[in-house]
Amino acid sequence: MPRLGMLGQTEFIVRALVEKEIVLATHNAGKVVEINDLLEPFGVHALSAGALGLAEPIEDGTTFEENALIKARAAALASGKPALSDDSGLCVDALDGAPGIHTADWAELPEGGRDFGFAMERLQRKLQAAGANTRQDRTARFVAVLCLYWPDGHHEDFRGEIEGEIVWPPRGERGFGYDPVFLPAGHTRTFGEMDAFEKHGWKPGHDTPPLSHRARAFEKFANQCLGKVT
Ligand code: IMP
Repeated sequence: MPRLGMLGQTEFIVRALVEKEIVLATHNAGKVVEINDLLEPFGVHALSAGALGLAEPIEDGTTFEENALIKARAAALASGKPALSDDSGLCVDALDGAPGIHTADWAELPEGGRDFGFAMERLQRKLQAAGANTRQDRTARFVAVLCLYWPDGHHEDFRGEIEGEIVWPPRGERGFGYDPVFLPAGHTRTFGEMDAFEKHGWKPGHDTPPLSHRARAFEKFANQCLGKVT
């Protein structure tokens, strides 16, 4: 259903999501949990691409936006349903923005498989090699781009970012990926020490502003494409 949005003084057509069943274009279990948490108040049911047995496309884009589009398009065309993807990563200033779009790849073990303890150690070694030992030297941001792609080719994307710093040693057992080494600016607990509600910082229908990169992107998506909380 088309609606009018505003960008400065310019009106543009946006499309609301009327379908109640979508595909989550990710095989990452941590993202599936977080996005389902955020979608649940809107009465939208999300099946994951992993659970549907959809193949993972090759992410050969050069930006978060390009990779989000590749994943959402592949899942929408394979399933015939609107698909929502998340391409995200950690950008560390002292490493010129690395690992960036390669954040998941840094967890790849020489013998195969992924291990995020290994990825966090790799990050710490690179920061040490760069001489980044003080808090000011270890600034970073998490970025998430959500892309909603309909089988007719229409798509919309939404970016969220959260500034913070890389701590060492890792703190907390919650969340996923690099959560234990990411301390959001102005907070005393890492994402790994926060429960889901604190990490999102926001729940649809509540007034508090979103905290995590994913919740910030999701809020934009919800405002544009989703209806009222059910
Ligand atoms: P991709 O978007 O699937 O290419 O991978 C992004 C990678 O970034 C994930 O595998 C995680 O390691 C990391 N990442 C993204 N978002 C988060 C988060 O909220 N917490 C911790 N790690 C994250």
